[in-house]
Amino acid sequence: MHRHHDPLKDAVARPLWHDPEIMRAPEPALSGSADCELLIVGGGYTGLWAALQAKERKPDIDIIVIEQTFVGDGASGRNGGFLSSSIAHGETNIDAQFPGEADKLEQLGEQNIKELLEALERYDIDAHYEKTGVTNVALDPEAAVRLYEEFLVRQASGEDVVWYDKEGMREQVNSPKFYGGCWQRGHQDGVVDPMRLCLGLKNVLLNQLGVRIFEGTRLKKVMPDGKTSMRAICEAGEIQSEKVLMATNAYTNPYRKINRAIVPVWDYQIATEPLTPQQLDLINWGKTESRHALSDFTNLFHYFRLTRDNRITWGGGGAVRSYFNRGIDIKYMDAPARYAQLATEFFHMFPQLEGNVKFSNKWGGIIASSTRFCMVPGVAYDGRLAWSVGYTGHGVSASRFGARIGIELLGYKPSEVIRMQFVTKNATPWPPEPFRWIGIRLTEHALARADRNGGKRGLWLKLLDMMGFGFTC
Ligand SMILES: Cc1cc2nc3c(=O)[nH]c(=O)nc-3n(C[C@H](O)[C@H](O)[C@H](O)COP(=O)(O)OP(=O)(O)OC[C@H]3O[C@@H](n4cnc5c(N)ncnc54)[C@H](O)[C@@H]3O)c2cc1C
Repeated sequence: MHRHHDPLKDAVARPLWHDPEIMRAPEPALSGSADCELLIVGGGYTGLWAALQAKERKPDIDIIVIEQTFVGDGASGRNGGFLSSSIAHGETNIDAQFPGEADKLEQLGEQNIKELLEALERYDIDAHYEKTGVTNVALDPEAAVRLYEEFLVRQASGEDVVWYDKEGMREQVNSPKFYGGCWQRGHQDGVVDPMRLCLGLKNVLLNQLGVRIFEGTRLKKVMPDGKTSMRAICEAGEIQSEKVLMATNAYTNPYRKINRAIVPVWDYQIATEPLTPQQLDLINWGKTESRHALSDFTNLFHYFRLTRDNRITWGGGGAVRSYFNRGIDIKYMDAPARYAQLATEFFHMFPQLEGNVKFSNKWGGIIASSTRFCMVPGVAYDGRLAWSVGYTGHGVSASRFGARIGIELLGYKPSEVIRMQFVTKNATPWPPEPFRWIGIRLTEHALARADRNGGKRGLWLKLLDMMGFGFTC
């Protein structure tokens, strides 16, 4: 980095997407008692989409959503905005976890993203969606060979994919680190502004569908109340309902079984100021038929994209971190070393921008990782309480599908989907501390080593692969 230039000096510790221009005062907190048919806990995508889909399935249903801070304060307002049709973390993972269901899950994923985009249209939600597809880039010649092989497999299976060799890729987006790229331009994959999506959904629920939302309202305890209803105790009130959907993802849930399914993992991002046309020229980005949304082809991958106003957001890589014993405290967003690492890696990728680009925002958010690397749905109390959590970093569109499963498990127009192993198969619980932390650290080191060794998986990763817990991107 240039000696007198600290590109993070003026970066605000706030998600870029929490733009003061669009943020509004939260809805009042619950005070006293209330009742409803369906209580949804969590004001992220899962909770918001569940309320919307439940209303569409049963228009007269009375719904309350509670959110402990404000809608979009969780991962849903902090993510990278990569909208993918994949709902189960890719084919390799599906074959390992849910043999025989690959075709059906692919079809459901495509249907889900299509319906998601149709809903945005129907309710006039401008989430800054842009159909970019997703482009994987190889960072060394060996990775380019592996990525090319993957391209051939995708092409043979009929996917709409484009291969770029080293020069071709650098014409699309110019980094001296790129050795090839595979643009998956089929489906409806693209990028969104995560918080605009949250706020758009919230607005529709409140103003068009008559859903009650209480923000600043944390669920402390939940229990059955007699044989047909549930009782939820919050900080300053209580809610009686027929059904409860837990949409709390990485956060500790009062219904403890859910917590064993997921481990919270922090993921960090930085965003540049809007790039000038001259700065964009230096890296060619946005000059060709697609404003590619990129991800490097490594285990500890970075993801990076342009926003509508031509900022680059840059996240992931080795900055991802799990902390001992759940580690969900917001203090972990204060992570100077992680942001400095991200900035260094950014300029390593785009040295042309070093010395003349600054970062405006830095932030972190919590991903819920499951041992099966995709959502974990579940149901209890004779169908009165359900949950959908654990999207493992791939939840922007998958959470809408998780919401669908959640409400179907509660009895709202159930379909054959809830009989698939994807729903019925129990997820292996994470081991307790300290074994969990030790296992994750070992895996992090092993993944980084594999990235340094041309993708060769060492003994630890091979063992995990054999047990069906091998992390694949
Ligand atoms: C940095 C980052 C980058 C990511 N990038 C991508 C990406 O590019 N593409 C992608 O597909 N996925 C991405 N993800 C994952 C994606 O954001 C999530 O899978 C998705 O947002 C999950 O939505 P959710 O509603 O289930 O969870 P959340 O958005 O976390 O919502 C859960 C909500 O529940 C509330 N809550 C918790 N406990 C209680 C309680 N007791 N009482 C009341 N409320 C409670 C929380 O405050 C929170 O608002 C990323 C995640 C992070 C953190």
